[in-house]
Amino acid sequence: MNPKKRCVVDDCDRPHHGRGYCGPHYQEWRRTGERPDHDWIRESWQEQQLLLGFTGEGVGYPFEDEAEERKAWERRRAEWEQKWKRPARSHTPGSRPAAWWKFIAGRPHRVLHWPSHDHTVQEMLDYEIEPLEWLAREGHLEAWEINKIREDAAVAAARFGTPSERLSGVGPGGDGERIITAQRVDRALGEAGDERYKNVTMAESRHSRVWDRWLAEQAR
Ligand SMILES: [Zn+2]
Repeated sequence: MNPKKRCVVDDCDRPHHGRGYCGPHYQEWRRTGERPDHDWIRESWQEQQLLLGFTGEGVGYPFEDEAEERKAWERRRAEWEQKWKRPARSHTPGSRPAAWWKFIAGRPHRVLHWPSHDHTVQEMLDYEIEPLEWLAREGHLEAWEINKIREDAAVAAARFGTPSERLSGVGPGGDGERIITAQRVDRALGEAGDERYKNVTMAESRHSRVWDRWLAEQAR
């Protein structure tokens, strides 16, 4: 627990105990079922839990139990589904709220966290691409998402091996990764894939070499 953290109720300066509240306010909430003050803060933590799968330090799990979390998710589900079914321009293929992964997919959300600090390039790729493969295999990828993955790979393949690729292909999200992602998603879909990138067979090894060198440079 963070010793400097204070109760969120206005004018209450007692140290934090749980769910944002001090001991007495926490007990009051448990006893009466009514949240003392600052509902919006608790609700924003709940939203963060649903979207990201975690809250700020010291807040802890902001629901009474998983049944309450599931109800909160069901209330927002239709609205949030629009975000990946009819995406804004900024939306990334495969993005789903943590609660979707938990209650619909039945597997954890992990897009935001690397497995460790000393991961290999292959682990990093698996970590990013495996959830997309899973979505593809299970029929959860929207058509626009498949198209976007293929389009990005086709663009990457067109400049693969050129000086512009050598600039853009280094580091996470580079051209090599886009091509590998599309190839693996196509395999997961049981489809042959797009002509424009499917024959870029050197993508993986070349990209990994470039990336390994980049990581080694960062570590110095
Ligand atoms: Zn308090």
